[in-house]
Amino acid sequence: MTAGTYGEVLKRLEEWRKKEECSSRFLEFYQRLLGIQAKATKQIGKPKPALKSKASHERIESGWPLISFDELDLDWPLLQDVFTEVTVAFAKYPDLFGEIPKSLREPRPTLPEEMVKAWLEGAKLPSTIAGDNIDEHLLEAIIQATLRPWLTSQAKVLVSLVNQERWRRRYCPICGGSPDFAFLDKERGSRWLLCSRCDTEWLFQRLECPYCGTKDQNALAYFADDEGLYRLYVCEQCHTYIKAIDLRHTESEVLLQLERVMTLDLDRQGQEKGYQPGYSRISSRVIPQSEGS
Ligand SMILES: [Zn+2]
Ligand SMILES: [Zn+2]
Repeated sequence: MTAGTYGEVLKRLEEWRKKEECSSRFLEFYQRLLGIQAKATKQIGKPKPALKSKASHERIESGWPLISFDELDLDWPLLQDVFTEVTVAFAKYPDLFGEIPKSLREPRPTLPEEMVKAWLEGAKLPSTIAGDNIDEHLLEAIIQATLRPWLTSQAKVLVSLVNQERWRRRYCPICGGSPDFAFLDKERGSRWLLCSRCDTEWLFQRLECPYCGTKDQNALAYFADDEGLYRLYVCEQCHTYIKAIDLRHTESEVLLQLERVMTLDLDRQGQEKGYQPGYSRISSRVIPQSEGS
């Protein structure tokens, strides 16, 4: 595991921001968000695993993620509190996210249950909350930030049930989310993906697009930086990119969640070259429609 706890990530981010005297608004926002998520994670505690080893084996074999909406066992009062704190945090940075609609600026905005379910299952989100039109990407980002403490807590207790050699799919074995970062491991340079929603790491092919699934070698390429530490994998078929770090080229301890946000320069490069971040393409989800086979 190269993903750290919220506390570890927060501590490292604080140290780094002090040392670099970095005043980036985005990192300031991110630090605030981590604080909310760390607190919620403590309140959630260690959850009971959503399912047993035999059931998990069957799901992995049939390509079905280990957590479904009903199994998440959400504490709704706590979830609504976290949702309020998260929307307040987003609203403080209109320069980054645009103006937050009125319905979300109420003292206690409500996150409807069917919206959480739709988001988790990758379905199209209802486009209004309390009659307000809300930008879909903003809404997704807010729901994702709210649900993250529950998903990462469940992921921690379930990840040992994932047979990495058997999964190797384009979506997360725990929550069904898309990857938004990758790494090449120290041992063999195998490529792993990092879930954008629950931080689970899973093994994946090096020569396959994690978004559209093409294996056409002519459509796949990567750019590396001068030190060979970072890579930008791009796909000509679906015009997406995914950022990656090559752990064979670093001695220092890496926290992937932090790498994800410290590499905004790579995002800039990718987009300048005409590619889009793949994880925002919900339509790329290819989860089987019903459980079992
Ligand atoms: Zn996940
Ligand atoms: Zn592709």
